[in-house]
Amino acid sequence: MEPIGQSIARLWRRAGDHPPLAYAMIAAAVAAAWAFHAVAPSGQADFSLLPFLLPVLLGAALAGFAGGSFATLLGLAAGALAAGADATGANVAHALLFLLVALAVAGVGERMRRHYQDAEAANVELRAREARLQSIMETAPDAIIVIDEGGLIQSFSATAERMFGWRAEEVIGANVDMLMPEPDHSRHDRYISRYLETGEKRIIGLGRIVTAKRRDGATFPIELAIGEVQAGGRRCFTGFIRDISRRQRTEARLQELQSELVHVSRLTALGEMASALAHELNQPLSAISNYLKGSVRLLEESVIDAARIRDAVDKAGDQALRAGEIIRRLRDFVTRREAEASPQSLRKIIEEASALALVGLADQGVRHTFSFDESADCVEADRVQIQQVLINLIRNATDAMSEMSTRDLTISVAPHGEELTLVCVADRGPGVVPEIAPRLFQPFVTSKPDGMGVGLSISRTIVENHGGKMWFEANPTGGALFKFTLPRCKAASAR
Ligand code: ADP
Repeated sequence: MEPIGQSIARLWRRAGDHPPLAYAMIAAAVAAAWAFHAVAPSGQADFSLLPFLLPVLLGAALAGFAGGSFATLLGLAAGALAAGADATGANVAHALLFLLVALAVAGVGERMRRHYQDAEAANVELRAREARLQSIMETAPDAIIVIDEGGLIQSFSATAERMFGWRAEEVIGANVDMLMPEPDHSRHDRYISRYLETGEKRIIGLGRIVTAKRRDGATFPIELAIGEVQAGGRRCFTGFIRDISRRQRTEARLQELQSELVHVSRLTALGEMASALAHELNQPLSAISNYLKGSVRLLEESVIDAARIRDAVDKAGDQALRAGEIIRRLRDFVTRREAEASPQSLRKIIEEASALALVGLADQGVRHTFSFDESADCVEADRVQIQQVLINLIRNATDAMSEMSTRDLTISVAPHGEELTLVCVADRGPGVVPEIAPRLFQPFVTSKPDGMGVGLSISRTIVENHGGKMWFEANPTGGALFKFTLPRCKAASAR
C-alpha cells in the first residue's frame, strides 16, 4: 500500500486537472465544516463561521479564485441555514465579515496556486532542456568537456570517454590539464588565469589544432574549440574536441605523395638541366685543360717564359670560376623558391608541425615535450617551409628512436643573441652515425635503406634562405640535437 501522503498528493494533482472532482471535494469540505459547526459547542457565535474558512483555502488552492468563491458561497449558505430564522443584525455583520475574509483568503490561495503552477511549468521545461542537452552530449561526434574557472572538469561526454579512455566519474572534479601533454599540462592553469585577468582571447571562440593525451599517455592531434558560458554568476568553459588523427593521416599521406612528386619532378628537371649544362660546362673545362696543357709545354721549354705561363694559369683559373658559376646556378635552380617571411608564432608552427609529424606515430609511444620561451616566440618565417623543416627533424628523430625503449623528443625554443631565436629538436636515439656525420647536410647522404638523404640538405637550405643556420650536436644525455636559428620579429607581433 502506498503511504497516505502520496495518495493525498496524487488525489490533489488529479483534482487540479479535473474541475468536477475539485468542486466535489470543496463541497465535501464545506459539508464537513458544517457538521463540525453543528456539533461544536454553541454560544461561540463570533467564531461560528471560522470552520468554513478552511474549505475556502482548499477551494482556492484546488481551483483558484473560482473554487475559493464557490466554497465561500457554500459556507455562507450553510451559515444561513444554521442561523435559521434568527437573522439578527449581528449575524448579518458576522456574515459580511466572513465574506470579506473568505474572499481575501481565496485571493491569496489563487496567487499561491499560480506560483505553484509557474514553478511546476518551469521545472518541466528545465527537465526537458536537461534531457535535450544530455542527448546532445551523448551523441555528438565531438567530445564535449565542461570545466569551471578553476579548470576542474564539470562534465565529460560519452564521446570524450571513448576518445580519452577515462570514465566520466573518474575525471569529474579533476583538473582538465590531465588530458594534455607538456607544456600545456603545467601551463593550463596559467592560461585560464591570464584569460580571467586580461580577457584576451587566445583560443576561446577561435579554435586551434593542439595535441591531447589519452589515458595510456599516447598523444594525438585534436581540433579544439572553446565556448564560454556565464551561469548563476559562475563562468564555465565548454570545450568541443575533434580527434583529427584520421583526417591528418590522410592529409599527411597526401602531403607525402605531393612531396615525393615534387622530388621526382625536381630530379627530372635536374636531369634535364644537367644535360643542358654539361654542354656549357664542357666549354670552360676544355679551356682549362688546354691552358694547363699549354702551361706544361711552356714549362718544358729550355727558356721559361714565366709571364706567359702566369697568363695561361690565370685564364685557367677564370674558366674554373666560370664553371663554378654554372654549378651555382644549377644549385639555385634546385632550391629556387624564395622564402616569404612574415611574423609568425613559433609555438603555433611547432604545435601544428608536431601534430602533423605525430600522425601514425601515436602507437610508437613517443613522448613529446615542448619548452617555449615567449620572448623568442615571434620569428620572421615562411610558415609552411619551417614546418617542413620541423616535420623532417621530428620524423628523423622518431626514426632514430624506433629501436629504443625510451622515446623522448624535446623541442625547445629560446632566444639566441639579440636578433635570433634558437630551435632545438632533441632525441634520445643512438645519435648520428660517425661515418656520415661530416657529410650529413649534403644531398643524397643517408644511412637508411629507404632514405633519400635530401631532408637535411633541403632543411638547411630553407633555414639559410631565412637568414639562419642549421647544425647538429651530440646530445650529452644520448641521442642527437638538431639546432637551427631564425631571425626574431622586429616589432610586429606574430599572426
Ligand atoms: P633521410 O631521412 O631520407 O635519410 P635526411 O637528410 O633527413 O634523409 O637524413 C640524413 C641522414 O642523417 C639519415 O639517414 C640519418 O643517418 C641521419 N640522421 C638524421 N637525423 C638523425 C637523428 N635524429 N639521429 C640520428 N641520425 C640522424
